Amino acid sequence: MAKPKKNKTPVKMEKLMSLCKRRGFIFLSSEIYGGQSACWDFGPLGVELKNNIKQLWWKAMVHENDNIEGLDASIIMHPRVWEASGHVDGFHDPMVDCKECKRRFRADTLEGDSCPECGGELTSVRQFNLMFKTHIGPVEDSASVAYLRPETAQGIYVNFLNVANSSRQKIPFGIAQIGKAFRNEITPGNFIFRSREFEQMEMQFFVKPGTDEKWMEYWREQRWKFHQRLGIRQDHLRWHEHGPDELAHYARAAFDIEYKFPFGWSELEGVHNRTDFDLKRHTEYSGKDMSYFDQEANERYIPYIIETSAGVDRTMLQVLVDAYEEEPGEKENRVVMRISPLVAPIKAGIFPLVKRDGMPERADEIYHELKSEFNVFYDEGGSIGRRYRRMDEAGTPYCITVDSQTAEDDTVTVRHRDSMEQDRVKITDLKPMIRNAMLNYKRPETVDIFDTEENGG
Ligand code: ATP
Repeated sequence: MAKPKKNKTPVKMEKLMSLCKRRGFIFLSSEIYGGQSACWDFGPLGVELKNNIKQLWWKAMVHENDNIEGLDASIIMHPRVWEASGHVDGFHDPMVDCKECKRRFRADTLEGDSCPECGGELTSVRQFNLMFKTHIGPVEDSASVAYLRPETAQGIYVNFLNVANSSRQKIPFGIAQIGKAFRNEITPGNFIFRSREFEQMEMQFFVKPGTDEKWMEYWREQRWKFHQRLGIRQDHLRWHEHGPDELAHYARAAFDIEYKFPFGWSELEGVHNRTDFDLKRHTEYSGKDMSYFDQEANERYIPYIIETSAGVDRTMLQVLVDAYEEEPGEKENRVVMRISPLVAPIKAGIFPLVKRDGMPERADEIYHELKSEFNVFYDEGGSIGRRYRRMDEAGTPYCITVDSQTAEDDTVTVRHRDSMEQDRVKITDLKPMIRNAMLNYKRPETVDIFDTEENGG
């Protein structure tokens, strides 16, 4: 469990949050009404980045593995699902209130026994269920209670046989899903790290009991590779193994991938061996046999599940934090987002050097040509230096400028975000250049002025 910090937001987080708002990555939900706490809206750049992360995950899981199928289950499920899963009885956090300032805290994150904000006396600990409750239909009574799902996993478990039978998959195989989840967190915070509405990318892999440890190792390796593909600095990632007192009662082993955020090492995703707990419970609560007949082994069993469960928002925050750098400049610092071209919201900015001599027309032609394959951006406003800076802040790896030489030899100036170097490239080579960068990105070793212990560096 990531502990919320009591000290001030680290400078790097403050700077990042302000850039996210200014450039349209992330806005506070319902901001004009004072904001809805712990809910976030993703702006034009944010939604592109988020979609790219989800697409990469979907590709790495569903499209690149013949034994993984996709699913999109509904958010509202039968309430018995959450009894079987253990969420109705057990999805609680211990909560205390301050009798003076009325603030609310998670008891397991407090160090002393008085209020960390005002020193006031705290109430005794109460258990608080994190599920959002609602009612189905016009009558609000106990028979109509429903929940917004607190995780996407259960939609996969209850469809295990539907997917197996319809896709003719045989064990071992997995089911993957991306979707919203909701938790009424007591102490949300750290920007989009802990919100009340968020998205998960979960893949549940069904295996024959006895082969679970092997598959657990396999999926740990695969999940680590995913963060490499995202271009994240490896020394900012680590494994955390759940000790006996952290391990859920049904889990046999659990490992989390953690990232070194400015507010401390915190969980990005978990790879867990959930044993046969989930399918056994759904068999018990639904009365439907969820066992599987293994034709090869000629035996029937309840499969074990290796779960890989990642947060979309946390992965996005990791990408943003890892990318954000400020370099000292003569007049002002240069802010650059070193986002991997694979997930960068915009792959290239296309500029005419000046607004005459046919340059805008030529740049517009290139823009439309590249647009058929990539998300690119046309900009003719302001000095070329300002246009570069805007693209640096958006994390755009290339700026392509049409100048006077273009009309002579069909080449353009390409300015590289990371090295700030410029070279001349044939227009016909632009598409292969971008494709190649998306596949083979290597983040440069740089010195970031925020790379201090306090800022997660
Ligand atoms: P934490 O200990 O941080 O509360 P958790 O162990 O409860 O997380 P899981 O239930 O394992 O988290 O959920 C899987 C993933 O879903 C997490 O690794 C995280 O990326 C994401 N996630 C969980 N809760 C939130 C939240 N409130 N906001 C954003 N992402 C979340």
